[in-house]
Amino acid sequence: MQVEALPSAVRSVVQSHRCGGRRVGVVPTMGALHVGHVSLMEAARRECDFVVTTIFVNPMQFGPNEDFECYPRTLEQDLQRCEAAGVDLVFTPDAAQMFPPDAESIVSLTGLTRKLEGRDRPGHFDGVTTVVAKLFNITLPHRAYFGQKDYQQQLVIRRMVSDLNWALEIVTCPIVREDDGLAMSSRNRYLSPADRERSLVLFRALSMAQQLAETGSESPDSISRQMQQLIGGVNGVDLVYSVVADCDTLEPLVETSERAVALIAARVGKTRLIDNQILRFR
Ligand code: AMP
Repeated sequence: MQVEALPSAVRSVVQSHRCGGRRVGVVPTMGALHVGHVSLMEAARRECDFVVTTIFVNPMQFGPNEDFECYPRTLEQDLQRCEAAGVDLVFTPDAAQMFPPDAESIVSLTGLTRKLEGRDRPGHFDGVTTVVAKLFNITLPHRAYFGQKDYQQQLVIRRMVSDLNWALEIVTCPIVREDDGLAMSSRNRYLSPADRERSLVLFRALSMAQQLAETGSESPDSISRQMQQLIGGVNGVDLVYSVVADCDTLEPLVETSERAVALIAARVGKTRLIDNQILRFR
């Protein structure tokens, strides 16, 4: 497995594989890799000939009061995980290479990014789309792999790829959970044992939402309210939003729909968690 920090080096390696007719798969990450990330690399390994993982804690997607400074950085362990997953090349740029002081360009979406996560984290998605655009231009993927865990993020990336006519395919992989249902996240390691216990209410709320949808007699609005009540009842959990929305537009649903997703964001202690579940209404 090759490890490269220079964009020019990565691009020339990838270009030679593309010229040889090999399909390139890319998995963008911020490191602190867990089994959820590994599932993306394994999907890329199955479907592509040359697999690139990028590890970059992107300063541009963190707000001024967010956890950029203390975001977990575990490079040695991450490289071992990449190697075990069969990754061919790991791209580990540093911030000065990705965002030189004279850089002026930003990739910014005007609609989807204003909702839900975007409303609570102003500027977050501009950071995501700008860095992902750069990573795509450096790593030249045929396919890029993202997790459903960050539901809005994969929608935003799909929108960007379509709007900008990028010749690549976005693949969204299922959420990997701990045995008790907590969605795996690099931020879970911030949780104290008591907060870890409290955080299970997110999965409980999503499971309840699915059960209510299956009854066929609950409106999306009523399901949203019941999720809010359940989460609001747990001390130490501050709900940011919980909503049943259209899968593509993320607009809150009024009537039941075949294209519904329940999305939650909450602060548990100092840790901000998100989770979601596609809903099947009867
Ligand atoms: P991050 O390192 O948090 O930026 O995540 C990198 C990629 O891994 C994103 O596409 C995430 O959606 C995905 N990911 C993170 N957690 C999970 C999970 N529990 N299951 C599946 N994919 C995940």
